[in-house]
Amino acid sequence: MLDKIWYPTDKMFIGGEWKSPAGGEMLMLENPSTGQHLATISRGQSADIDAAVNAAQAALDGEWGRTTALERGRILTRIGQLILTRVEELAEIEAADVGKPLSQARNDAIAMARYMEFYGGAADKVHGETIPYMEGYTVYTLREPHGVTGHIVPWNYPMQIIGRSVGAALAMGNACVLKPAEEACLTALGFAALAAEAGLPAGALNVVPGLGHEAGAALSGHGAIQHISFTGSVGVGKLVQTAAAQNVIPVTLELGGKSPQVVFDDADLDAALPFLVGACIQNAGQTCSASSRVLIQRGIYDELLERMADRYSSLKVGTAMSDVNVGPLISARQKEIVSGFIAQGKNLRIAAQGSVVKGTPEAGHYVLPTLFADVAPDHVLAQSEIFGPVQVVIPFKDEAEAIEIANNTEFGLVASVWTRDGARQMRMAKALKAGQVFINNYGAGGGVELPFGGVGKSGHGREKGFEALYGFSSLKTVAAYHG
Ligand code: NAD
Repeated sequence: MLDKIWYPTDKMFIGGEWKSPAGGEMLMLENPSTGQHLATISRGQSADIDAAVNAAQAALDGEWGRTTALERGRILTRIGQLILTRVEELAEIEAADVGKPLSQARNDAIAMARYMEFYGGAADKVHGETIPYMEGYTVYTLREPHGVTGHIVPWNYPMQIIGRSVGAALAMGNACVLKPAEEACLTALGFAALAAEAGLPAGALNVVPGLGHEAGAALSGHGAIQHISFTGSVGVGKLVQTAAAQNVIPVTLELGGKSPQVVFDDADLDAALPFLVGACIQNAGQTCSASSRVLIQRGIYDELLERMADRYSSLKVGTAMSDVNVGPLISARQKEIVSGFIAQGKNLRIAAQGSVVKGTPEAGHYVLPTLFADVAPDHVLAQSEIFGPVQVVIPFKDEAEAIEIANNTEFGLVASVWTRDGARQMRMAKALKAGQVFINNYGAGGGVELPFGGVGKSGHGREKGFEALYGFSSLKTVAAYHG
């Protein structure tokens, strides 16, 4: 796999140059499929974050700050085109680094390109407005970049999250400092290489790999950044928001979820089935918007549970490159956490589990996808974000009970409703506590164009779509008195 990498993996990208960390310390990346060493990466620290923030500010004061919206859009579009020429390499690198099945990694690379195309096209279409005001005034608004923006991303979908966050920020003319996750950061560096090749001016994008409590904390608490976008766990999200509060800067938090799919008696079960299972086991359940709860109305409960169980029994677990249904978890620690949750369900009914493909390396971090049936809504498995291929099925009587159960967690990221009843679709869409609601589908194919984010402990602020461009800019009102 490493022979596919055309850029240095043991460096940071600062001010348009590949640099070693000031402290000279390095970290090891592991291949989760095999448990073997994959690559050596930089352990960036606060001095490196300082250098990156300074380079970003210099870019804003220089060429990047003078780049027109049209030209920013063209550069982003070129980055997207270059990503498309490298989909296979990026997919193989991501599969090795994250452990996700190759075809899923390929989709992520294509999605990252799509973000660049979308935000490239949008860059010169965001503008202020004129406001009718008192006699003798002309009033208008200007949409301006925040300045230097920080981006802290997790390991589960590096390419997609970088695409949506950095793509929107660059489109609005910000200069970015990106801190990828210490568990998987190779495609973040690849993205920097492609951005440079596409002509992004030096300093507009800086990438500093490193540990969360070192480089991540240094970035979120840095006095010279003007916005921070964080995707990750609730616990670290609170730390990031607290750090940002010291500098009174805006924060976007994309945190966890416990997203429900609600299936009514009248649903098209053939259409629902692949989404019910697929939306949980994708990326081995390590997806913020994983649908880890399925609520089924009692009239179809037994039939649908049996069909879901059949699917689970046929799920294959194996290496990322074998490209079966479920790959390994990211790390031994994550495997321990998820196995601990499965153990907490020892008194529950396991409806079905998948199986490991023969020859899969034992040192990889594999767990069996597991479907729990008849789970009480307040059980720990129905309340906690497990972040593994574990799904609970909960029966319900009627619409009111479905809403009560669906909304009864601290999260609110995504939800879906499966029913042919149009009025019920509308009622449920309003009643469900979530940033996105899907009707007779789930996830809508990724939805680059669709605003995404949470309520409750799932976070606040919106990324994706046009909405992100507003989040990555600041509105200035100009009131001119001319008599
Ligand atoms: P995490 O919070 O441990 O790490 C995420 C990032 O934060 C990493 O880059 C890490 O280095 C950094 N970090 C860690 N400590 C930090 C600190 N003290 N200060 C600043 N940065 C720090 O999360 P994780 O375990 O890597 O990812 C899993 C979590 O992310 C899950 O809860 C999942 O739901 C969430 N997630 C949410 C979304 C979304 O869009 N809502 C998407 C993907 C993942």
